[in-house]
Amino acid sequence: MSRLVVISNRIADLTKSSQSGGLAVALVDALKATGGLWFGWGGDIVGNGTKIETSIENIDSVTVASVPLTEDDYDQYYLGFSNKELWPVFHYRLDLAEFDTDHVNGYRRVNQMFADKLCPLLKPDDLIWIHDYHLIPLASELRQRNVGQTIGFFLHIPFPPPEILSATPEHEWLVRSLASYDVIGFQTSNDLANFHRYLVEEEKGEIFTDGRVHAYGRTIQADVFPIGIDVDAFAEMSRTPEAEQQIENLRRRTIARAHIIGVDRLDYTKGLPERFKAFGRLLESYPANNKAVTLMQVAQPTREDLEAYANIRHELEGISGAINGNFGDFDWTPVRYIHRSVSRDVLAALFRASMVGLVTPLRDGMNLVAKEYIAAQEHDNPGVLILSKFAGAAEALQEALLVNPYDVDEVTEAMQKSITMSRDERIERHKILFAKIKQHDAHHWHDSFISALRNSRHGAVA
Ligand code: UDP
Repeated sequence: MSRLVVISNRIADLTKSSQSGGLAVALVDALKATGGLWFGWGGDIVGNGTKIETSIENIDSVTVASVPLTEDDYDQYYLGFSNKELWPVFHYRLDLAEFDTDHVNGYRRVNQMFADKLCPLLKPDDLIWIHDYHLIPLASELRQRNVGQTIGFFLHIPFPPPEILSATPEHEWLVRSLASYDVIGFQTSNDLANFHRYLVEEEKGEIFTDGRVHAYGRTIQADVFPIGIDVDAFAEMSRTPEAEQQIENLRRRTIARAHIIGVDRLDYTKGLPERFKAFGRLLESYPANNKAVTLMQVAQPTREDLEAYANIRHELEGISGAINGNFGDFDWTPVRYIHRSVSRDVLAALFRASMVGLVTPLRDGMNLVAKEYIAAQEHDNPGVLILSKFAGAAEALQEALLVNPYDVDEVTEAMQKSITMSRDERIERHKILFAKIKQHDAHHWHDSFISALRNSRHGAVA
């Protein structure tokens, strides 16, 4: 069996894969099965001019090869091009994007450095799987170094419509770089359709009915592979004795009958201010909810070096303070806002204890939290998922209460509907949602991507 080589911006801690969520959980098994290699940034930042050395470690049967970034790399490649340009643009937020030539140069330089460091570690029969927006040009850098192995790319974030993408100065280079892969995976058919439209409208590319596309002189496979979670492992985490204790403590400490829970990185794509406003309106429009319903929001700190992230934090603190000031009482805090990271086993317990899961991003690649909320519910008395129609997860999870996250009144009404929904209807919706996340779980995701990679090697792609 060919060895799997995974490359991602940041290497997850393989010894704590159940805590790392998404990528690590899904990939560790596949890496172990093939004695694979995981390559990426290990998290260290070294002074400019420091010679970059690869560190190699063996964990179980997996080889982990990591490199540090220099201070300039971190500023230009990671914070700069990846997170001040690509992240906002790919989430349809041109208004927040910053275009800076130093950032582009840093992005190109780090992708070249990754290619230089990776090449000596590759074997002729490897299947190479590159992840996410930080590494779009990596395959083309590898091809320039005569790497002929099969290379796949999975984009974890949305792919924007061509009208948005083409506003970035580097759009042609970015999409041309994608043509160096053999297989490209997207989260949703909407992302794939945007990619197709770009190829046809900007490059006169051809789209075939079997998933292949032809552009920039190459024919490659482009398809939808919605990422999933390890449903059984997450459900189990929500039922451990420690989880039972957590749930018991929560119920004892609070007078509210119903909890609405939100768990997100504190990112402007997650729609948190809009969500808080909708909750404020719920208390205003339906006074019976006063002292009866609490919104618990875990807002995990992220990319705090960037101004847009500091701004969203201030905005959120302002809105939650205003709601608590207006509606709270000595024995009731309507919004419990936690600005720190919470471990996944505690989250599993919180999800299970919450009557409503609120997942209302303005735009999101998939949103694993939506699937985790479903996995943690009790089958005979489940909570209700309110899900943004702009989260990738919404494409499959149509039995959730789907909302437009920009429409505060609509979100308020969905909250009220969830709180008052009959048990029968909750069970009916949850049964279908649970079956769907089981069918498209983490194992299904990596199996189907890897099999697409293998097929492309065996001549399906010219
Ligand atoms: N998560 C966590 N602790 C937190 C907040 C989130 O472990 O305090 C986990 C969460 O359980 C999920 C992941 O982080 O597995 C977030 O993935 P998602 O796809 O929802 O959003 P992303 O952060 O990738 O945009």
